Amino acid sequence: MSSAVITKVEIIKLNIPYKEPFVISLGVIHEATNVVVRIHISTGLTGTGECAPFVFIVGETQETVFELAKQVGKLLLGKDPFAIGERLNEIDRAVQGNPTMKSAFDMALYDLLALKAGMPLYQLLGGTKNREIHTDMTISIGTPEKVASDALTFQREGFPAIKVKLGTSLKEDVARIRAIRHAVGPDYPIRIDANQGWDTTTAIETLKALEPFHIEHCEEPIAHWNSRELVKVRAYSPIPIMADESIFDHHDAFRLASMGACDYFNIKFSKSGGIHKALKIVAVAESAGIKCQVGCMSESRFALTALMHLVLASDAIVHYDMDSSLMLDADPVIGGIEYQGSGLWILEDRPGIGAGFDEEYLETMEKVSIS
Ligand SMILES: [Mg+2]
Repeated sequence: MSSAVITKVEIIKLNIPYKEPFVISLGVIHEATNVVVRIHISTGLTGTGECAPFVFIVGETQETVFELAKQVGKLLLGKDPFAIGERLNEIDRAVQGNPTMKSAFDMALYDLLALKAGMPLYQLLGGTKNREIHTDMTISIGTPEKVASDALTFQREGFPAIKVKLGTSLKEDVARIRAIRHAVGPDYPIRIDANQGWDTTTAIETLKALEPFHIEHCEEPIAHWNSRELVKVRAYSPIPIMADESIFDHHDAFRLASMGACDYFNIKFSKSGGIHKALKIVAVAESAGIKCQVGCMSESRFALTALMHLVLASDAIVHYDMDSSLMLDADPVIGGIEYQGSGLWILEDRPGIGAGFDEEYLETMEKVSIS
């Protein structure tokens, strides 16, 4: 039995401007408005977590996370930090939904466990460094000329694939992809993401119209709740379908897999509530023979480092959309994954998640301590 208890929880807002505004079919983002959670325990260890609330997709904001995190912080005081399942169940009972807020606590608890073990988190999760992790790069919605020029820039920078945000209209979406394919040549991998922007008919027509452009897969073509219609879109689509907004946790994963509604799952901590349930999604994926992508919202390099540990824990994770920190105008993270150019992230072995935040950067941010 562990005698360690949680003694203090720090909740810190983390704002980082984007290099340029990021546009998707649901809205425009100018700044990452994330939240950092640090859990201090009686043995002197501190675990760190970060979450990136995206109101269009999850319905959480920096303010809702900050407020609810205070309640969760109070709930955790005096409790055993290493009984992770028990802690997360308590949080789930106290607060319905709000997976992004929960992901910061989940991440901090896993950081503590791996720090206590003295091991990199991926090892504790059963993983190995058996492959190179190259992120794709995302192109936000724009004119055909703008998206083609962005695509060419990213291809020249060495990214192994690009992901293009679509979901406005058939005509505009096809014009964007035609311009990009013309710019990057016939063989460069292109993925697309409609962010629920199409109805069923438009989705099927657009996906058929995009067939000649050799698209790897399409994320979330239609409204997130309509799994029944997603089965139909998948049946008629020449392009494999990846569920994103329609899969938050392992229950969604099981339902979509049972229905045959998608070819891939896109896992994000902001939707799964962190690592604990992400591992359960991976278990469903492995059971069903479905491959996964990992994705991000506006996370700094810290939460992307935590995501890297998950990636290394399962060979079912085959696509890596880990580009958020590359779009941010500042990097307040110390340690963690290091960008090598050409989309390549490398992780040095350190105990825990193996990263932290620059105290000077955090000092300027709004903060509350629960103890
Ligand atoms: Mg997506």
